[in-house]
Amino acid sequence: MTAQVIDGKAFAAKVRGRVAEEVAALKEGHGITPGLAVVLVGEDPASQVYVRSKGKQTIEAGMNSFEHKLDADTTQDALLALIGQLNADPAVHGILVQLPLPAHLDSELVINSIDPAKDVDGFHISNVGLLGTGQKSMVPCTPLGCLMLLRDHHGSLSGLNAVVVGRSNIVGKPMAQLLLGDSCTVTIAHSRTKDLTEVVKRADIVVAAVGRPEMVTGDWIKPGATVIDVGINRIDAGEGKTRLVGDCHYDSCAEVAGAITPVPGGVGPMTIACLLANTVTACCRANGLKEPQ
Ligand code: NDP
Repeated sequence: MTAQVIDGKAFAAKVRGRVAEEVAALKEGHGITPGLAVVLVGEDPASQVYVRSKGKQTIEAGMNSFEHKLDADTTQDALLALIGQLNADPAVHGILVQLPLPAHLDSELVINSIDPAKDVDGFHISNVGLLGTGQKSMVPCTPLGCLMLLRDHHGSLSGLNAVVVGRSNIVGKPMAQLLLGDSCTVTIAHSRTKDLTEVVKRADIVVAAVGRPEMVTGDWIKPGATVIDVGINRIDAGEGKTRLVGDCHYDSCAEVAGAITPVPGGVGPMTIACLLANTVTACCRANGLKEPQ
């Protein structure tokens, strides 16, 4: 069997197109331009790339992008003061603090100081609780992107066995909540899971969010299963070059799976597309308007 490739790049382009239409309608119909503020502390090269990309795509969708770049030695008080200003600014509908923060800053405190209504990353404790209890919330972008791809591929996910490998607050746990919300039977696996291979082999849906290059191999996959690879790992490709791989070994998994997301071009592009969609949702809620479906 050769798996169907789930084209996250194409799907993300469609989501961004839909967001741009919604933004145009908000401008024309209501004179409102959704605004996203991104806060970057320090000079982590990967974070700089992400922030640039987020800013560019925000503007391409017709929204306002407010970038705040702070020195690596910014104090906690200064960062909290900036977040306070953004919380109070009616032109800002979404606030994202790029993680990881430098070690001297308390990430939990910082994230929980964002107005939950503007928390477009969905990491504020209120949004985590709302998601966990099935209430309207801001949903973390990467798991939301994975769910969109899965719904598009399967239609209904009801009753399917889903195994999420990884239990981070950013990906694994919210992913599991979303799959549960769509009536999957969900298992969360992690570094202490016994017989991980056997656990994964029972899955109709495997979501790998581990951060270990090509860890999940084809012999772990049930024939016909859907594999969603969240991992982004840069590995040595010889001759001084590097290449990006996922947490799944693509070739061997694709031989057995029914469908699989590639890396790059799978989950990655969905994350920013969902960030833009969340910003429009936040803007509609802030203005008492019907939010996009
Ligand atoms: P974390 O490091 O926060 O979490 C990794 C999880 O994997 C942990 O729960 C850990 O278990 C588990 N784990 C680690 N090793 C093993 C193992 N050998 N067997 C089973 N479980 C294991 O990572 P993130 O969730 O932040 O990210 C995961 C991956 O997704 C990374 O490759 C990251 O780059 C990528 N990513 C991609 C995004 C995108 O936009 N596509 C966005 C965010 C992340 P334990 O809790 O027991 O330690």
